[in-house]
Amino acid sequence: MIRFNEAPFLGTEFEYIKDAINNKHISGDGKYTKLCNSLIENYLQSPKVLLTHSCTAALEISALLLDIKDGDEIICPSYTFVTTASSFALRGAKIVFVDIKDDTLNLDENQLDAAITNKTKAVVPVHYAGVSCEMDKILGIAKARSIAVVEDAAQAVGSLYKNKPCGSMGNLGSYSFHETKNISSGEGGALIINDTKYIENAEIIREKGTNRSKFFRGQVDKYTWVELGSSYLPSDMIAAYLYPQLLSMEKINAQRIQIWNKYHEAFKGPAQKGIVTCPYIPETCKHNAHMYYLRFNDLATRTKFIKYMKDNNIMCVFHYVPLHSSPAGQRFGRATGNMSVTDLASNTLVRLPLFHEMDEKMLAFVIEKTMEFLNKL
Ligand SMILES: *Cc1c(COP(=O)(O)O)cnc(C)c1O
Repeated sequence: MIRFNEAPFLGTEFEYIKDAINNKHISGDGKYTKLCNSLIENYLQSPKVLLTHSCTAALEISALLLDIKDGDEIICPSYTFVTTASSFALRGAKIVFVDIKDDTLNLDENQLDAAITNKTKAVVPVHYAGVSCEMDKILGIAKARSIAVVEDAAQAVGSLYKNKPCGSMGNLGSYSFHETKNISSGEGGALIINDTKYIENAEIIREKGTNRSKFFRGQVDKYTWVELGSSYLPSDMIAAYLYPQLLSMEKINAQRIQIWNKYHEAFKGPAQKGIVTCPYIPETCKHNAHMYYLRFNDLATRTKFIKYMKDNNIMCVFHYVPLHSSPAGQRFGRATGNMSVTDLASNTLVRLPLFHEMDEKMLAFVIEKTMEFLNKL
């Protein structure tokens, strides 16, 4: 069976975990957490990066940093993972869902301005499939309307927009190192702080609301409860697993790009005939091949395709169920405009297997079976 995803594994992770254990520091903020933080800081050219146990944790910290309160509004796509929205709803925000664009399936920047009210605190653009949102426009609107930008770069580790890394452009950003992402520690994430005014509070929130980080740096002589916060640190063993993968980020992403390009080349013909729609990558974006998807013309064809592939032992999966019409989305949010692109993408998109250890033979087989199906349409 060809699985949809297998977490990347290089083999060297064991040595690093062993070292972390030998160092007798397996709680948070040990040697490997610090190494990971600075590696990401250097890559992003961001003033501060803090490893967290998930991207969700980084988004929750962001909501606390922005002092989100009952009645505040945040704007995000409906076509995204639950926690893009729920991390802010948790603090009492009303979630205002904006439709996505038909080409990249990213937040429609042309609908952003109209969605902003005097209650809006932030916009949370999601770089879907590792393809950047139209950040110049989003940042421009956010600046003009005095709202914060929190990039959900969960899928975009290593992706660029006009040569700037995703995650480095908003006031805050977040990465995910979940098993399903390009670079992984099973569960894991990072908070990216680009606006230095948030650094001090971020350290406090991540350390259960205490000034423990300051204490360890010798800046205060005892540590105490100073703010709201929670436990958002990963164990240093997790960071040790992550570190060699971060060191190999370019290599891992380059390998995925090769697979992605082969898919893209193979499905050009059917796309030209209008049988399927392939992903679109704007000139301004360098993506990280997080995902290869096809969009069929209707739900019935997609359902047939998933079954056809499954019968051939290939796991293909659909993606997000829209948040604006979900039970909690209706309670904690509201949609602006009609969400037609979101609804259509949700019904017609399917993701093909794509992972670091996917070999030529697997890839050829997935392409062969997909073409077999497409040629019958
Ligand atoms: C994976 C993902 C998340 C959540 O990441 P975790 O590390 O599992 O918390 C959030 N947003 C998007 C867009 C994601 O793809």
